Amino acid sequence: MKGMPLPVKIRFTKKCQRCMRSFPHLARACPHCRDITDGAELEAFIQCYQQELAESRGLGNIFLFLAALLLLALLVMSVT
Ligand SMILES: [Zn+2]
Repeated sequence: MKGMPLPVKIRFTKKCQRCMRSFPHLARACPHCRDITDGAELEAFIQCYQQELAESRGLGNIFLFLAALLLLALLVMSVT
């Protein structure tokens, strides 16, 4: 073992080199792309996942924005 200890959630999953999704370390084959053949089908699957990631990142930004807004509102209320 070297480097920083990883959070438990990550330690028990590994990243699939085909589809880049993480799956349980104990699984012998990636359950996400096991049934997908190489080529266009796999590429479309990966692209779909990238889109999902981008969308969840966008959602995270919205929550951050709302939290900042709430903090600002609290500050304004405490001043007045
Ligand atoms: Zn996979």
